[in-house]
Amino acid sequence: MTSFNSDFTMTIDGKPVSSHIELEAINPATEEVIASFPDATRDHLEEAVTSARNAFPAWSSRPVSERQDMIREFGKAIEAHSEELMALLTTEQGKGRDGAEFEVGGSADWCAGISEQALPEEIIEDNEEHTVFVRRTPLGVVGGITPWNFPILLAVWKIGPALLAGNTMVLKPSPFTPLCTLKLGEIASKVFPAGVLNVISGGDELGKWMTSHPDIAKISFTGSTDTGKAVMRSASEHMKRITLECGGNDAAIVLPDVDAKEVAEPLFWGAFANSAQFCVAAKRLYVHEDVYDEVMEELIEYAKNVKVGNGAEADTLLGPIQNKPQYDKLRDLLADTKRSGASIRLGGEVDDSPGYFIPVTLVDNPADDSRIVKEEPFGPVLPLLKWKDDDEVIKRANDSEYGLAGSVWGKDLKRARSLAERLETGTIWINEMHQFAPNIPFGGHKQSGMGVENSLEGLTEYTNSQTITVKK
Ligand code: NAD
Repeated sequence: MTSFNSDFTMTIDGKPVSSHIELEAINPATEEVIASFPDATRDHLEEAVTSARNAFPAWSSRPVSERQDMIREFGKAIEAHSEELMALLTTEQGKGRDGAEFEVGGSADWCAGISEQALPEEIIEDNEEHTVFVRRTPLGVVGGITPWNFPILLAVWKIGPALLAGNTMVLKPSPFTPLCTLKLGEIASKVFPAGVLNVISGGDELGKWMTSHPDIAKISFTGSTDTGKAVMRSASEHMKRITLECGGNDAAIVLPDVDAKEVAEPLFWGAFANSAQFCVAAKRLYVHEDVYDEVMEELIEYAKNVKVGNGAEADTLLGPIQNKPQYDKLRDLLADTKRSGASIRLGGEVDDSPGYFIPVTLVDNPADDSRIVKEEPFGPVLPLLKWKDDDEVIKRANDSEYGLAGSVWGKDLKRARSLAERLETGTIWINEMHQFAPNIPFGGHKQSGMGVENSLEGLTEYTNSQTITVKK
């Protein structure tokens, strides 16, 4: 069993805090307990919110350059702890070394990128009569709620802009991956003044308490669409600001002019990176009928060289499913796909040995109304679907309650661009996927979310607009 010589404590008011109740974190590759962690009580939440409220006046009145410097320092501190964080991430989340490097390195880079941002005051009108200024003012205490697929990076996506804008924060990780985030709180406590970032852990109930807390001004949430709706309902009571990054069922459209061999590798990783536990994984692969068979064959060929296994083993490229409920959901979806009569060209067999492993699975042209096409699998089961005509494929791709991202692949860039513009999603990649950066806005259309993260637009969501007019 991999265990850690560390107590996993919450960070409240800059201090380590434990709870008399504890929960257990499980290694999904072995199903062994890694460590126990605090299950916060309502009193812990009160302490965290009070501490964030108390820290707010001083933090928000610092010059933005000081906040920028501290966020830059936080990035460096993440980098300095990267080996420890990567080992923990692999053990707790399941991902392999490559994935852990991407996530931890990306988190440090994110802090560097965010620390370059600011929202300066704007003069909207300046004439003989008066001057009109618009300022962006912080909201107060932000509640951050994160999922289990990228527990460090998605937390940093919230911490960086929330704090830069002058807010203080209470952050709650998923109960399936709390350890990395608790570590992040400990690292942050050496960088930020006490109370600026509080990290508390617990179950879903703790999330509910946060969304209904009167002294939390905004919830920045990443997770499923159903939970996003619950957050929205609960936040309405005190008219909290919300940013919701929710589920997706992203279509990738492959044009007839692709080179099947060339496109197989980026398509494979577009669909299966992080074992497809990726809100923006390609989840429906629409391949033109002229190249359908070739693309299927090339994907099968490519998959042969990708090891699925325990992320702690050096050659593992795809780890297990992160938790038991998600694993059970995928097994159920696989059973349904088989029952529906769809042919499975690769994978599809799950054994009962320890670890929540699902093999890379390719489903051959299932019906448009089958569950594997309609639902977000959030795991490595990918349907390939044949198409003929541009209008038809756009209609099918857009036939979803989700609208997170999508991609188009082909040499004819004019045709690719014209299809891309017709997709009802917040992001569309052409001949590439998963391009994220602190200055690139990211957010979903339809039931994939509300608002955006990253970029100045994302930063703005951590502020109120304040207009000041001065008569001359
Ligand atoms: P989830 O909705 O089950 O949980 C997300 C977080 O919400 C967890 O911290 C959980 O404890 C908390 N929570 C649960 N119930 C709550 C409630 N009633 N009130 C407040 N908080 C509550 O999601 P998950 O299973 O952890 O993550 C997978 C989902 O996240 C997928 O649907 C995926 O697409 C989505 N996701 C979206 C993005 C994005 O940027 N759009 C990124 C990653 C994951």
